[in-house]
Amino acid sequence: MSTTTADTTVTAEDLYTIGAEIHDAKAPLDSPLDKMWGQRKFTAKLVNPSNRRKLNIIIVGTGLAGGAAAASLGEMGYHVLNFCYQDSPRRAHSIAAQGGINAAKNYRNDGDSTYRLFYDTVKGGDYRARETNVYRLAEVSANIIDQCVAQGVPFAREYGGLLDNRSFGGVQVSRTFYARGQTGQQLLIGAYQALERQVAAGTVSMYARHEMQDVIVADGRARGIVVRDMVTGEIQTYYADVVILATGGYGNVFFLSTNAMGSNTTAIWRAHKRGAFFGNPCYTQIHPTCIPQHGEYQSKLTLMSESLRNDGRIWVPKRVEDCSKDPREIPEADRDYYLERIYPSFGNLVPRDIASRQAKYMCDEGRGVGPEVEEVDQATGQKVLRRRGVYLDFADALNRLGHKAVEAKYGNLFDMYQQITGENPYETPMRIYPAVHYTMGGLWVDYDLETTIPGLFCAGEANFADQGANRLGASALMQGLADGYFVLPETIPNYLAGMLRAEPIDDSHPAAQEAIAAVKERTQKLLTIQGSRSVDSFHKELGRIMWEYCGMERREEGLVRAIGLIRDLRADFWTDVKVTGEGVGLNQALERAARLADFLELGELMCIDALQRRESCGGHFRAESKTPDGEALRHDDQFLYVSAWEAAGEDGKPTLHKEPLVYKNIELKTRSYK
Ligand SMILES: Cc1cc2nc3c(=O)[nH]c(=O)nc-3n(C[C@H](O)[C@H](O)[C@H](O)COP(=O)(O)OP(=O)(O)OC[C@H]3O[C@@H](n4cnc5c(N)ncnc54)[C@H](O)[C@@H]3O)c2cc1C
Repeated sequence: MSTTTADTTVTAEDLYTIGAEIHDAKAPLDSPLDKMWGQRKFTAKLVNPSNRRKLNIIIVGTGLAGGAAAASLGEMGYHVLNFCYQDSPRRAHSIAAQGGINAAKNYRNDGDSTYRLFYDTVKGGDYRARETNVYRLAEVSANIIDQCVAQGVPFAREYGGLLDNRSFGGVQVSRTFYARGQTGQQLLIGAYQALERQVAAGTVSMYARHEMQDVIVADGRARGIVVRDMVTGEIQTYYADVVILATGGYGNVFFLSTNAMGSNTTAIWRAHKRGAFFGNPCYTQIHPTCIPQHGEYQSKLTLMSESLRNDGRIWVPKRVEDCSKDPREIPEADRDYYLERIYPSFGNLVPRDIASRQAKYMCDEGRGVGPEVEEVDQATGQKVLRRRGVYLDFADALNRLGHKAVEAKYGNLFDMYQQITGENPYETPMRIYPAVHYTMGGLWVDYDLETTIPGLFCAGEANFADQGANRLGASALMQGLADGYFVLPETIPNYLAGMLRAEPIDDSHPAAQEAIAAVKERTQKLLTIQGSRSVDSFHKELGRIMWEYCGMERREEGLVRAIGLIRDLRADFWTDVKVTGEGVGLNQALERAARLADFLELGELMCIDALQRRESCGGHFRAESKTPDGEALRHDDQFLYVSAWEAAGEDGKPTLHKEPLVYKNIELKTRSYK
């Protein structure tokens, strides 16, 4: 199947085939929701302590999901082989998380409960997540805080010494635990020290600077991985009884995002090509409070934590002619606090997808602030000059709370803003604009977090399970740690109990030989093209296509066009990319090229997924599907399913398997934050 840039006759249905429905067979659906996890744990098989040391577990990833799982399974007595591409497990991207982690502790006595966290999360995800998984997430959320406090994580405390909470978007309770603007860092240090304890005890073997390139599926089960030692360039294999991928999100398909520069899709994409279905690839979270892009040479965007929306007020000038003025000269009467105006109940704390879209609309109307930038108008195709920024203003909070209190809460975020922009947010409002931040899609997993490849599990941001079509703030850390500390340690033994008599495998197995040969051939191919364009120039172009056509607003014709453009770009990449250096030794150009090759395939699947979902839900906003007042319009009668994609076969078309979403406990409603 080929479509090119000029091809306007292609429809969504030409690009994929429909396969059989898929269902989660592991959640005990006959139990009441609040008994389900207990029931699953009770029926799960166990492995006795003396057998555990005979079983090997590969975990790829040392972020909150992978690090927590490795520490926990090591502590239980299994032998864990833990991989990451950074020079230390402690540098996983989770360390960047700023704002906080949710838990239904109800410390504020403001009406919170497990059920309310469950309800808020399902609603926040625009009714596109499984009830079963989300309820479990809410249920174990309180344990996460106890676990982390026991590890010594220095959560913020109130004057009296009790743990403090703040609010995040999309909810009306304060349930977010935080450590200033460094929550991810403190949580990761907690997980890391637990992990290092196991490394010292000999239950976990750590392989830093090893990048997984493929999964070895032998006799129908995941039994190992192929990695590249990033220092020597050697291609190596590792084998185990079960493989867990906790490899983070793929937001860098957009080139510019708030993710760490190294974040990529390779591990899950390679697994997808070996048979793991990919869930909801098009669901991307665009975060409303990021520092606007300031130049063409920029390779990363910076998040300003959502916690700032607790005290900062978002506004744009009422009149276009005021947009170039110093904000301090614009009187109150001429300011439009548009979120407070449109959504009086939630105000500045509406969910991220809504806050992002409204910022876009304000700028589309010509009421954005900051420097003018040239861009292509999606609707008309014309080049236009627009300002892409809105104000986040702390003047009220500074008057109300005082400089010292604001500094205590947000000081490090204010410093970061000043260092990057040269502007002092204590004196002049911050300028912010939405940016790609998180990917709700990922490998499809069942209730046990097992993918469609037996013995291959997936956790944290790398799986699709809990966030639906939009992620509420502070729920990714919750999910990563729930998966790592509480879910996998219960479900992995159930799988391993059946592996005690499994024959060990090694490089002589045909599946291993095939995977090793495929990795070597691919690496060699990248090194021998020796074309004229740098890896980054291809990546930037892919990012522009994705942002323009598969970003905050998506349209039928734009997505078809994007697919053609991506196919052309991919063909150019494989004939004209220039990868400098050699296969042996450290070669960052080679690392980036290999990751980009996977992004170039994933980007196409994201567009196909966005094309087939002719509705708006959460972060997936189809311009053709909106209410009269411009809000997302779902079509539950047609799209109440998870898209689980099977990799393209000979005909080049991926297959869509639909997992129907069944809501027994929550009534489907139109999301309203007004
Ligand atoms: C700037 C920023 C701020 C955020 N703030 C918050 C917040 O306040 N609250 C919240 O809930 N969420 C927040 N998030 C989201 C959250 O941080 C992430 O979703 C979460 O940390 C992901 O954890 P993870 O363990 O799934 O993956 P990661 O932390 O990304 O870890 C991935 C691991 O996999 C390894 N890896 C990947 N591919 C390979 C490979 N091929 N071979 C070997 N190793 C591999 C990496 O080396 C790494 O160890 C934020 C995100 C960003 C970008």
